[in-house]
Amino acid sequence: MVLQHQRKVSVHLEMTTAGAKNDLNDPSAFAAASSAVSSHLASSGYVTAAQVREEIDRANSIVSEIRRHFPGAAGSSEILRRTKAVLDGMGVEDILLTQSVCPDEINHEEIGGGKVFHLGGLAGVPFTGKTGAHVPEGGHCFILQAPHIGMSNEQELGKYSREGQPNSPSTACGAAVGAMCHCAAGNELPYLGGVTDDYQMSYIINEMSKRMHFLSPHDGDTNAQQAELARQTHSIGKDMLDQIVSTNFGDDMSMLFVMSGIQINMPFDFEDYFEPISFEVHRKDGSVTDLFPLTFGS
Ligand SMILES: [Zn+2]
Repeated sequence: MVLQHQRKVSVHLEMTTAGAKNDLNDPSAFAAASSAVSSHLASSGYVTAAQVREEIDRANSIVSEIRRHFPGAAGSSEILRRTKAVLDGMGVEDILLTQSVCPDEINHEEIGGGKVFHLGGLAGVPFTGKTGAHVPEGGHCFILQAPHIGMSNEQELGKYSREGQPNSPSTACGAAVGAMCHCAAGNELPYLGGVTDDYQMSYIINEMSKRMHFLSPHDGDTNAQQAELARQTHSIGKDMLDQIVSTNFGDDMSMLFVMSGIQINMPFDFEDYFEPISFEVHRKDGSVTDLFPLTFGS
């Protein structure tokens, strides 16, 4: 069967799902497969049923591999929708987004328009430290802390197929992979007191060296090793964040929301995925409420 009109694609995709290996049950996978089918149409003027089934199978295969390593991961738009529903339910309006994510350009493709205070350095570690953000009077603050991990078009975790770059796929997060390789090779740890030209990387290497026992080769399953590297990188950033968070801003009603997790830079036409790990709200009276079950289920 050949389709000539792009607007029929979504319907056709649903009709041919039965012929694919699995049904599509992830909205972001559906969007990615639809986008890939649209690209076929745009370049060739038609798409075959076999190509549609191929795109569905590929999208399902990618999601299945992501969920094997990050069971709680979902498309970032779904994470945003759930988070916003909780904030709206709490009557939160004026809020400053402060984020601690790696400066790698693949983490910032979608961001624009909204005001963001960047707290993060390499690997999403909040190197900006205690120096505060600028919360509006009577407003609230939301901190997002997340390391990132890429998946290449060949479904390799820890790598990313970067558009227009000849040595693609390359490592993502390069800082986390670099730190693990530095330690695995038995190289000397940099002395933090004397580093002025590469402090962030030196700090990450030192912290990673304490966690290398978690990063065994995993019986040759390099995707499992890379997923564990992302979790260990998360713990490095979260440990630092826990030391510097403060509710010393705004007024008596101001709240500090802190979410952490792992950002996953997805291959092909997929939007980024995100695995939430923690989400809580700190109030001025010192109380801390866990918002994770309400937002993402237990
Ligand atoms: Zn990075």
